[in-house]
Amino acid sequence: MISRTPSLQPTPASGPRSSDLALPSEGAAPWQRSLAQAVRSTGELLDLLGLDPQMLEGAAPAQRDFPLRVPHSFVRRMRGGDPKDPLLLQVLPTSQELDANPGYSADPLGESDATAVPGLLHKYRGRALLMVTGACAIHCRYCFRRHFPYADHNSGGDTWDQALSYIAADSTLTEIILSGGDPLSVSDRKLARLASALASIPHLRRLRIHTRLPIALPERVDDNLLQWLTASRLQPVVVIHTNHPREIDRDVRLAIARLRDASIPVLNQTVLLAGINDDVPTLRELSETLFEAGVHPYYLHLMDRVDGAAHFEVDESFAQDLVWQLMSELPGYLVPKLVREVAGTPAKLPIPPLRSLDRVLE
Ligand SMILES: *Cc1c(COP(=O)(O)O)cnc(C)c1O
Ligand code: SF4
Repeated sequence: MISRTPSLQPTPASGPRSSDLALPSEGAAPWQRSLAQAVRSTGELLDLLGLDPQMLEGAAPAQRDFPLRVPHSFVRRMRGGDPKDPLLLQVLPTSQELDANPGYSADPLGESDATAVPGLLHKYRGRALLMVTGACAIHCRYCFRRHFPYADHNSGGDTWDQALSYIAADSTLTEIILSGGDPLSVSDRKLARLASALASIPHLRRLRIHTRLPIALPERVDDNLLQWLTASRLQPVVVIHTNHPREIDRDVRLAIARLRDASIPVLNQTVLLAGINDDVPTLRELSETLFEAGVHPYYLHLMDRVDGAAHFEVDESFAQDLVWQLMSELPGYLVPKLVREVAGTPAKLPIPPLRSLDRVLE
């Protein structure tokens, strides 16, 4: 079922790219300056954390393929001196990424096939996903779009005319998801223009934003963002991406509170990652911490099989057991839905947490 792209795109055309990021100029927002100052050197990152540069052995090709990028505020949430820190492991290039693994590919979701027009993925009824940019504030090693040929999708430019025409012509669409890359790495001026173009399409009801910026760079949630987001006729929904409770610090809580104060529902998706969050105490604490911050758990994703990320894979039956244990320890509304994305299905595929009734009665 899982289709592949004919060939892996060469680096400059693929993956969330830093070249798309707005360079901070006169009048740049504070978040844009912080973004420009993000750590990009693996040596600098290990130095900041007091870790042995030996950790980088053999990782240079991984860094070349998909370079390190992590804002200082996220680095400050890492534990110094801990090579297994769950926040560090999400962003540090390693030699393990170079291992070839059967069943892994550059385009595990067959997104090249689901592309309605450049930059627009229309896989599910009623909602379509607009790839606003290829850029991200943070580069997650397990990212399923790390090899995505953004350049072929005309993203990063400011014209979305083809996508807007497609959306306007399909009256079954009620929700547009801004995604990427990270849509909030784009300037508010451009986003406001896009939001207003979408609001003028009468059949649309909601504007959803899939973003890791409130976690990676919480200062992104500023007045300018809230202004265009709340001014729209469309009901905004923000879906953040958090994998570990330690990603949520005071600044993140404040950013989420600002969204909530503006009456914007905030949901969270998590990717289940070996060595990072594949245990019950971590997932339980993540749900508790998110809820205290005003966020509802939404999806727990089994990782997409993208080249370079096999060492993060969690076995499906182990994941089922984890979620079943979570269900027995948390109220139902704090348990995210376990799903896997499979090319060609009409929705993300639910994975039942319970494999057989016998296991309950054991
Ligand atoms: C995940 C995804 C959506 C959203 O699915 P929901 O189940 O509504 O969250 C929409 N379009 C694409 C292409 C997606 O990958
Ligand atoms: S923030 Fe999202 S799109 Fe960007 S690198 Fe991380 S997982 Fe990928």
